[in-house]
Parts: sequence; C-alpha cells; structure tokens
Amino acid sequence: MQSYEEILAEVLIDSDSLQKRVAELGAQVSADYDGRDLVLICILRGAVPFMVDLSRRITVPHMMDFMAVSSYGIGKYESTGSVRVTFDLQMDIRNRNVLLVEDIVDSGHTIASVLEMLGTRQPQSLKVCALLDKPERREAHVPIDYLGFSIPNKYVFGYGLDLDEYHRNLTFVGVVDLEKYKAD
Ligand code: 5GP
Repeated sequence: MQSYEEILAEVLIDSDSLQKRVAELGAQVSADYDGRDLVLICILRGAVPFMVDLSRRITVPHMMDFMAVSSYGIGKYESTGSVRVTFDLQMDIRNRNVLLVEDIVDSGHTIASVLEMLGTRQPQSLKVCALLDKPERREAHVPIDYLGFSIPNKYVFGYGLDLDEYHRNLTFVGVVDLEKYKAD
C-alpha cells in the first residue's frame, strides 16, 4: 500500500476541525438524551474512530454495541439496495433509545437498510448520527439526525474511512488523488 502522502490530493477536514465538531455533536446528543437510556451502535469498521471520540464527549450514561454489514455492491465503491448483516448486535435493542453511528452517508442505501432492519426490533427510538454526508450522491431517503460535515462528491479517506482497508488511522479526512492511487 502506498503511503498516504503519495495519494493525498488535499486535506478536506483537519484534525482540529474534526475534534471540535465531534465535541459539538457530543454536547447535542448529551442534551437530547438527558435522563434517557441510550445505546450507541457503531457500524464496523469505518465508524470506529468517530464512535470512540463521540462517546467520550457524551456526558450521559450510555452503552455501546457493534454491527457489521456488507452491501451487495454493483462495484467496489458503489452500494445497492440490500445489505447483509455479517456481524450482529450482541444486545437486545427492544425498548431502547438507539443512536446509529456511521462514518459516511453516500447513496444512503446502507443506512436505509440498517434502519429498516433495526426498526423491526422495536427500539423505543432510532436515530442516525453520521460524520460525513455526500448529498449529491443520495439515492435513498435517509433522515440524518446528527451530522458532522456535508462534503462534496469526492472519494475521501482517513478518520475511519479506508482505502482498501488501509489508512483508517489518520486523524484527518483527506481526498484521494485517484490518478496517483494504484488500487490492487
Ligand atoms: P452508501 O450505502 O451510503 O452508498 O455507502 C456508505 C458506505 O460506503 C460507507 O459506510 C463507506 O463504507 C462507503 N463510502 C462511501 N463513500 C466513501 C468515501 O468517500 N470513502 C470511503 N473510504 N468510503 C466511502
């Protein structure tokens, strides 16, 4: 895998801006869920850094659980309507206030299917917190209750978002230089 410096076109959101916005979202979630039970659900793997930082900024007692889905994609970077659960929640979310934490909403199909599936488990409430949104790419209607940043239609990586599973550890969100990036 190439180093990130070799394939970085530009830093889109730097580390300080990410942390500042995550703190604001944490404060908002803390106020909204004051006095209520809360469970954060992280969609693996892209949302891990965001979920960890967000959780530390949430001052109300809350639980965490994790799930992984894979989409029946039409291409490597496209997703279609249906998702398959590859790792399910360990917790029963019935009657719980669930906040789904996602890295990015692109076409919207992933979140739309996860919401539909989790909705059948009868949570008390079900909301979405996404770090990034690419509204230009939306195909499925998805209500995003808490949003970090709306971004242009560019392929991004870092802060959880991968390039063929690499570079999730970066503390910023960068745009990939697709002319320099050599996918395997
Ligand atoms: P959707 O179903 O909304 O089209 O796709 C959402 C998923 O596609 C995200 O969870 C993420 O894994 C992937 N994705 C969408 N856009 C990007 C991007 O710009 N960079 C990376 N690394 N992944 C993306």
